[in-house]
Amino acid sequence: MYLKEIELKGFKSFPLKTSLVFDKNINAIVGPNGSGKSNIVDALRWVLGDQSSKNLRIDNSSSLVFAGNEKIKPSSCASVKLLFEDIEKKEGIEFNSLEVERSISLDGKSDYFINNQACRLKDVVEIFSSLKLGVKGFSIVNQGTIEDILRISSNERVVMFQEILGLRQLEIKKESSIKKLSLTVDNLNQVSVLENEIMPHFRSLKRQISRMQKSEEIKKELQDIELSYFSYLFNKLKKVDNSKEISDIENKINLLEKECSGFDLNFQNIEFEKDKQILEKEIRELNNQKSSLLYDLAKIESLIDVNKNKLNDNLKNKVCHIDLNIINPKIENILSCFKNIYVIKDFNQLNMALKNLENEFKLLIANFNISNVNSDSVKQEIVMLEGKLKEIQNKNKSIQDEINLKYSKLEEISVLEKKKISENQENFILFEKKQKEINELKYMIRSFEIDQEKFNLKFSNLEREIKESLVDIKEVGSCCVKLSENEFYELEKKMYRYRKMLSEIGFVDPEIEDEYSGVKERIDFLQTEKNDLEISIKDLNKIIKDLEKEINVSFDLALKQINSEFTKYLKIMFDGGKGSIEVVKDEEGVNIGVDIFVKLPKNKLEGIESLSGGEKSLVSLALLFAIVSISVPPLLVLDEVDAALDEENARKFGDILKNLSTKTQFVLITHNWLTMICADLIFGITIGDKNCSKALSLKLEESRDYVKN
Ligand code: ATP
Ligand code: MG
Repeated sequence: MYLKEIELKGFKSFPLKTSLVFDKNINAIVGPNGSGKSNIVDALRWVLGDQSSKNLRIDNSSSLVFAGNEKIKPSSCASVKLLFEDIEKKEGIEFNSLEVERSISLDGKSDYFINNQACRLKDVVEIFSSLKLGVKGFSIVNQGTIEDILRISSNERVVMFQEILGLRQLEIKKESSIKKLSLTVDNLNQVSVLENEIMPHFRSLKRQISRMQKSEEIKKELQDIELSYFSYLFNKLKKVDNSKEISDIENKINLLEKECSGFDLNFQNIEFEKDKQILEKEIRELNNQKSSLLYDLAKIESLIDVNKNKLNDNLKNKVCHIDLNIINPKIENILSCFKNIYVIKDFNQLNMALKNLENEFKLLIANFNISNVNSDSVKQEIVMLEGKLKEIQNKNKSIQDEINLKYSKLEEISVLEKKKISENQENFILFEKKQKEINELKYMIRSFEIDQEKFNLKFSNLEREIKESLVDIKEVGSCCVKLSENEFYELEKKMYRYRKMLSEIGFVDPEIEDEYSGVKERIDFLQTEKNDLEISIKDLNKIIKDLEKEINVSFDLALKQINSEFTKYLKIMFDGGKGSIEVVKDEEGVNIGVDIFVKLPKNKLEGIESLSGGEKSLVSLALLFAIVSISVPPLLVLDEVDAALDEENARKFGDILKNLSTKTQFVLITHNWLTMICADLIFGITIGDKNCSKALSLKLEESRDYVKN
C-alpha cells in the first residue's frame, strides 16, 4: 500500500486545488521557509483523524481554512483528500484503493468520507489504525519533534509503540472490553443492590408462604377430623318430621271447624218478636174497627128506639117538642161515652159503658118532643135501620173472628219461639264440645311443632357449626361414621388441638401467593441476570487477559527485535555504542511504560539528557529506524528530521532511507540536498504570484538540476 495522491483545497496556505501525486518510494518536498511544506504534513495528519491542535499547529479549527490575502479571498471551507493504492486485502479491508476525505467549513461543520461514503471520525481512525497509519504512532514526524521519542513520558511511549507495532487494534479491543467489563460490573452491582433491596421482603414472603403451607396441611387433617366429628353428631341427631301428623290433625281440625260453622248460634227471637208485634198491631186495629162498629151499632139501635118511640107516640098522637138547650149537652155526654168505649179493651167494662150509653140515650129521648110523624115512613126507617144493624152485627162478628184467629196465631208463634230457644241451647252445647276437641287437637299440633322446633334448633346449631368448619354439610350428610363415646371424646379433643394450632399460625392472606410468585419471578430474574453478568465478567476478564497476553507477547517480541535493530542503527550512526528499550510492567503484567537506555561510544555519561542536539536527533532516528525495520509502516512522513545532521550523518541518513524505502514509502520534507538526492520524486512548494502555496513536481532529472542549482 502507498499514498498515491494528496489533494488540498482551501486548506491553510492552499486556497486553490492543489494535487501532489507521489512516488511509491522516496518523495521529497522542498521549498523556501514558509512556503507551506509543513502544511502538507498537517493536511495528511488531519485526514488521518488527528484532532490535536498542537500537532496540527492551529488555535482553532477555523485556522485550517485558508484565511485569504490581498489577492485571494478567504475560503469558506477546507478539504483534503488522500488516495491510497495497492492495499493488501485483509480482514475488514476488501478494497484495493482507499480514498479518504475530510472537510471542514468555517462554521465548524466537519465531514468525513471513505470512498465517497459519508462516515464518522471513528470509522476513519479505525481503518487507518488497521492499516498501521495511526496518528499516535511514529509514521508522521512533525518538524522539530523527532527528539520527542526521547522526550515523551515512559507511559506515552507505550501507546506510541503499540501504534507503531500495530497493536493498537488489540489495545482498543482490550480497552473496549475493559469498558464493557466496568459497565458489566456496574450492572452487576446494580442488580445486586436490587436483589438486596428485595431480598428481605422476599424472605418474609417466603416465611409467610411456608406458614400458609403448614396451615394448609393442618387444615387438611382438620378437615378429616371435622368430617368424622360432625358426621357422628349429624347421624346422632334423630330427624324429627311431624309434618304428616300435623297435616292429619289439621285436616281433622278443618273438618271440626266446618261442622262448627254449620251451627246457627246466632239465633235471636227478633223474627218472632216482629211477627208478634205485627199480629198485635193487627189485633189492635181490628178492635178499633170493632169499636167504631159498636158505636154505629149503638147509634142505629138508639135510632131504632127513637123511631119505635116515634111510632108509639104517633099512635098516641102526641107531638114532641125539642128544646135544643137541653138536648145539646146530653148529646155531648153520649159522644164522650162513645169516646170512652173506644179505648176500653175489657169486655165487661165495655158492657157497662154500653149500658151507660143506653141510659144517656134514654134521657135524651125523653127530652125530645116528637112531632107528628108519618107512621109508615117511620116503620120503613126502622126496617132499614134494623137491616143496617144486622149488617153491622155481622161485620162485628167477622172482625171478632179475625181477632180470634190472630190471637191463636200469636199463640203458635210463642210455641215456636220456645222450641227454637231450646234447640239453640242444644246446638251450643254441641258446638262447645267440638271447640274443646279443636283446642285439644291444636295443642297437639303445638307440641308437635315444639318437638320440630327443638330439632330444628339443634339442627341449625349443628349446621352453623359445620358452616364455620372446614367441611361441607353435604359431605357430612353423606358420610357415616361409627364411633364409641370414648372415640368421639378423643376426636373432639384432637379437633380443638388442631383448631388451636391453626389459630396460632393465624391468617395468611392467600393473595400473598401471587405477590410471592411475582417477587420470586423478579428475584429469579435478577439471579439469572446476575449469573449472566458474572459469566460475562468472567468472559470479559478472560478476553482482556488473552488480549493482554497477546499484546504483551507481541510487544515483548517486537521490543527484543527492536532492541537489536536499535543497537545496529546506533552502530551505523555512531560507529559503536549500545541502546536498549525496556518495558515497565505493573503488578498484573500490564505494560505501563517504555524506558530508553543509550550508551554512546565516546560519551562518558550514560543517559539521554547529556546528549547534544545532533546526538539526540541521531539516537531518535536510530530508534525510529529500528522500530520501522521491525514493524514496517506503509508510509513514513518526516518533516526536517535531518535538520541537525552534519554532512556525514546526512549521508548515512540517506543510505538508511534508501535501504528502508524498499519496505516503506517516504515523504520527506527537507532543506538538505544530500537527502534530496535520495528522492525518486521531488515536489517544489513556492509562494506564487497570488501569495499562496503552489506545488510543482520535478522529474528525477529535473530534480537533480533543481538540487544542483
Ligand atoms: P519552513 O521551511 O520554515 O518549515 P514551511 O514551508 O514548512 O516552512 P509552513 O509551516 O508549511 O512553511 O507554512 C507556514 C505558512 O503557512 C505561514 O506563512 C502561514 O501564514 C501560512 N498559513 C498557515 N495557515 C494559514 C491559513 N489558514 N491561511 C493562510 N495561510 C496560512
Ligand atoms: Mg516547515
